[in-house]
Amino acid sequence: MSEVIHHYINGRVVEGASGRRGEVFNPAIGEVIRQVSLADAAEVDKVVAAARDAFPAWAAAPPIRRARVMFKMKQLLEENIDELARMLTEEHGKTVEDSKGSITRGIEVVEFACGMPHLLKGEFTEQVGTGVDSYSIRQPLGVCVGITPFNFPAMIPLWMSPISLACGNTFVLKPSEKDPSLALRLAELYTEAGLPDGAFNVIQGDKAAVNALLAHPDVAAISFVGATATAEYIYHTGCAHNKRVQALGGAKNHMVVMPDADMAQATDAIMGAAYGSAGERCMAISVAVAVGDRVADDLIARLIPRVRALKVGPGIDPDTEMGPLVTKDHYDKVMGYIDKGIEEGAELVLDGRDLTLQGYENGYFMGGSIFDRVTTEMSIYTDEIFGPVLAVVRAPDYGAAVAMVNDHEYGNGAAIFTRDGDAARDFASNIQIGMVGINVPIPVPVAYYSFGGWKRSLFGDHHMHGAEGVRFYTKLKTITSRWPTGIRAGAEFVMPTLG
Ligand code: NAD
Repeated sequence: MSEVIHHYINGRVVEGASGRRGEVFNPAIGEVIRQVSLADAAEVDKVVAAARDAFPAWAAAPPIRRARVMFKMKQLLEENIDELARMLTEEHGKTVEDSKGSITRGIEVVEFACGMPHLLKGEFTEQVGTGVDSYSIRQPLGVCVGITPFNFPAMIPLWMSPISLACGNTFVLKPSEKDPSLALRLAELYTEAGLPDGAFNVIQGDKAAVNALLAHPDVAAISFVGATATAEYIYHTGCAHNKRVQALGGAKNHMVVMPDADMAQATDAIMGAAYGSAGERCMAISVAVAVGDRVADDLIARLIPRVRALKVGPGIDPDTEMGPLVTKDHYDKVMGYIDKGIEEGAELVLDGRDLTLQGYENGYFMGGSIFDRVTTEMSIYTDEIFGPVLAVVRAPDYGAAVAMVNDHEYGNGAAIFTRDGDAARDFASNIQIGMVGINVPIPVPVAYYSFGGWKRSLFGDHHMHGAEGVRFYTKLKTITSRWPTGIRAGAEFVMPTLG
């Protein structure tokens, strides 16, 4: 019988009891390598109870003690990064170097959480009235839940859990059932770092587990990252159960290439941003908006030989630049979009569909594709494909390019490539997008800034990590205090105006 990935509750691995299991694939070989338990509502009850019971003591721990666990966690993640990266690559497919890079971005959030004693400091005003002082404090919410996607099985749980925990909450992670192993290792490392039992738990599962978490009366807040349809559902259902919810969704990130751009730099940028991780990044560039036909022709002429030469292969091979797609279903979906693009009249100037790798014939590999003359009503423009498929759209001028980005339903990231400071500044001010790059193709904010999109790329009010993360995972309390001084003001029947 193959290995089964189970839950982690109260500081130990707990075998799944629902009788339901999912299959976990290695996408490079297209084979089931292990199974994953899929929790039912009774198991969700158990995991939430563990987090609820651990909450009072953890919330009462001095912030510096909680921060010390994060210092230790950072050290353990760094010591184990090679093993974690290999585990990630085995189930996801991306290259080991890319896996390591994403874990490093997660470690940076742990570093940010090490400063929580400072971040939790409130405000204090002496003498808001005679003998009266006011101060504000931020307190933890209770049991917080993280529901995460397949594409960053380490980084996204680490966007959420270090900040939530350092703020004094306890945490339940429901990772993607497509690559569930890493979550379990994170839980073990948290325990090794000194986190008390029950403070960080993992419940494996699919939508049955998610639905039980969304409705659970002891869950205070939900952080979600995944597709827009799921994000919208999670947001509305979580809110209907009176929970605080932040739900980050899908994306269609545009890169506007101006006539004065450094074309070599822009081409390099598209190579990494469109084809890195096989396009399975929420900040991937999937649309290049060329301003003017000269830019479009030049860009395509530069891209075709580079994309054709991409080294596609298993993520464990150090020479590989692009690994396989995550599952057969996803591979079929991306292939379907390429067919649709042709039907809709776009010009497929590079076709990545016909690719088989010797020794990996059953893997979900695909070469890079490029569509030219894509128009805004085509589904390859409107929909998130989440694969190595670049759409080139020709815009007559800068204004048309900006209008196109602003009219798109998604608002995660956008970039402009130009040497014109005026255009760059106008772009930064007027673009209706949450994360903007100027000659930077994937403008993922560092840990002490916050990550989040606009429009249908984020439901809720708070972005993730940075100051927004601290706000999301705490509630504000404001205290007004007066101590007996012997001076009596007498009873006040009008609205008190201190002073
Ligand atoms: P997904 O929405 O299918 O799954 C995400 C999580 O939701 C998983 O844990 C899954 O088990 C659960 N889930 C899926 N369907 C559900 C349902 N009907 N009811 C309840 N729970 C459900 O997303 P995915 O395919 O794992 O990830 C890819 C998507 O995530 C892409 O759209 C990508 O853009 C998005 N993403 C967004 C960001 C961001 O920061 N905005 C970051 C990474 C990924």
